[in-house]
Formats: sequence, structure tokens, C-alpha cells
Amino acid sequence: MRILVVEDDPVQVAILLHAFDKPGYAVLHERDGKRADHLLSTHEFDVVILDMGLPGMDGAEILRRLRHRKNNVPVLILTARDEVEDRVRGLDMGADDYLTKPFDIQELEARVRSLIRRGHAGSGAELQVGALKLDTVGRLASLNGEALDLSSRELNVLELLMLSAGRVVSKERLSDQISGLGDLVSDNAVEVYMSRLRKHLKPGSINIKTLRGLGYMLEKQ
Ligand code: CA
Repeated sequence: MRILVVEDDPVQVAILLHAFDKPGYAVLHERDGKRADHLLSTHEFDVVILDMGLPGMDGAEILRRLRHRKNNVPVLILTARDEVEDRVRGLDMGADDYLTKPFDIQELEARVRSLIRRGHAGSGAELQVGALKLDTVGRLASLNGEALDLSSRELNVLELLMLSAGRVVSKERLSDQISGLGDLVSDNAVEVYMSRLRKHLKPGSINIKTLRGLGYMLEKQ
């Protein structure tokens, strides 16, 4: 799950990054409003945690622009207890949920999980291609009814391939997914992940096809 945290208060940032420092989450942090707006227009996330008061561009404007681009990524806004107007404005601009600071970290995690579930509701929390199933909320993949032992990054890559089953996924998108946007990954790393996944998927007659110069495609044999 790819989470973007947009927050300029270093203490809040530390709390948020710590909360999602666990398998299954890839968190990217941005403190500047304009740069966050740019990231949101160039990358895909599963959920956005957005502070309202930011340098560069405020949270409400980021949201307005995001929804104007018809981007429906779930957004949770963070506001101080006395910033009622900010909260109302954020919800008016299309936020899905809000929390007031200081918030309880377990409540935040629960709200984020719920938003991710809702965000995936359209495509179904469970993806299936032939004998291959992936529970995108519980982060479990199975083949012929047997659980697959996959790392968090392998699961991220598999999810992307399954969402686009029968269609080509570019190497760049896959490399983004592997790095969790943290750092650049070589083309070679993408190939290594593909070869590992192929081994896992072979018993179920699921193939990952290489299309030279284009990318990869998941398909039933
Ligand atoms: Ca702030």
C-alpha cells in the first residue's frame, strides 16, 4: 500500500512515519505543498494523509486540484482542534475523512485501513486471475488454495500485475512499485523480481510474459 504523507511539522512526520513502518506499507513524505501537488499529479497512491496548513500551497488547494484532475485517491486530512474552518473546507474540497491533532495513532491506523478498503472496493478487495488469488487488504496471496510465501515488495508487484492482468505494465511503474518511491531501482532488479514471481506462479499455470521494450504482462496459460 502506497501512502503519501503531506505534513510540515517534523514531530507529526516522525509519528506518522513510525506508525506505517511495517510490512505492506510504502510511505513517502513531503513537507512542501507545491511539491506534494506535483507528486500527486505524477504518481499513484493508495491513500493520502494531508495536513491543512502547509508551506507553498495549503491542503485545501492541493485537494481541490486533486479532485479537479478526477483523482479519487482516498484522502484523510489532519487539522488542529481549533481549525474548524480548515476542516470544513477540506471536507468540502473532497476529503474522505479527518482527524484532529493530537490524534491517537491506533485510531489513525484504523482510519487509514478503512480508507484503503473503501478505495479498493471498486475493484474488490480480492483480486483473482485463474488459480491465483490476492487479498489486497489482508496482504495474502494464494495459488490453488495454498498460501504463497511472498515478501512485501513481491506482493506490491504482484498486485500491480494482477490489477492490469492481460495488459502490459511498464518497467518504470514496476520499478516504482519495488522501490516504494524511496530510491531508484535498476532494470535488473525488476527482472529479478519477475523471475522470482514466475517461479512462485508456475504451479498454477500463470505466466508473466516479457514484452521487449514495453514491459510485462500477467496471463493465464
Ligand atoms: Ca502544518
